[in-house]
Amino acid sequence: MEFAYVHENVAAIRLSIEAACAKAGRDPADVRVIAVTKTAPPDIVPALAAAGVRDAAENRWQAAREKLEHQASALLTWHFIGTLQTNKVKYIAPRFDWIHSVDRLELAVALAQAAERAGRTLNVLMQVNVAQESQKHGFAPEICLEAARAIAGMPSLALRGLMTMAPQVDDPELARPVFRALRELRDDVRARLSLAAFDELSMGMSQDYPIAIEEGATMVRIGRRLVNP
Ligand SMILES: *Cc1c(COP(=O)(O)O)cnc(C)c1O
Repeated sequence: MEFAYVHENVAAIRLSIEAACAKAGRDPADVRVIAVTKTAPPDIVPALAAAGVRDAAENRWQAAREKLEHQASALLTWHFIGTLQTNKVKYIAPRFDWIHSVDRLELAVALAQAAERAGRTLNVLMQVNVAQESQKHGFAPEICLEAARAIAGMPSLALRGLMTMAPQVDDPELARPVFRALRELRDDVRARLSLAAFDELSMGMSQDYPIAIEEGATMVRIGRRLVNP
């Protein structure tokens, strides 16, 4: 079978998630594995579903499109995780259930309008530029509270939590303060705005997901480690 290795990758990832959860006193059922399929061909989609994966993510509309056309795509919940131009929102809103990359209010407004037109509610996460890297997108931490207040009031959007991309570092341990800061920011915003269901932390990728889980990640976005042989 062409994608037999996907089963092995999923099994190995589940084991490492259990280990990270044991270390942190967490329940592995509270961590959602999101397969980032951007580098894989469309035929990975049924293989993922067969391996028990329930969530998949793409970061560009062009590449996402082919995968969403695959019959098996209906077996997965789809997450959009890339930089999003407002003129692409009309394609994304009807087909994705979660948007992790809401990095400006203008985008939230466009998503709310498109979701309303499509007659659905979109789950959204605010992307936060925790490390304040100039090349990265995302809200600065100090404006998150006000931005969350605005987004939480938009119809057709369900504001569910925060997302971040940790800096690329050789030692994943160095990403830990970034993950911890995102968790603290979520806790702070949730308490101050009394938001219901503002629980998600989308953080951690192939290189550093065990550390992210120790710091509270509820969604890990795993590409290479899952979809590569
Ligand atoms: C590609 C990508 C990932 C997955 O990265 P890997 O290192 O391959 O696990 C996660 N999040 C975002 C936003 C990405 O673009």
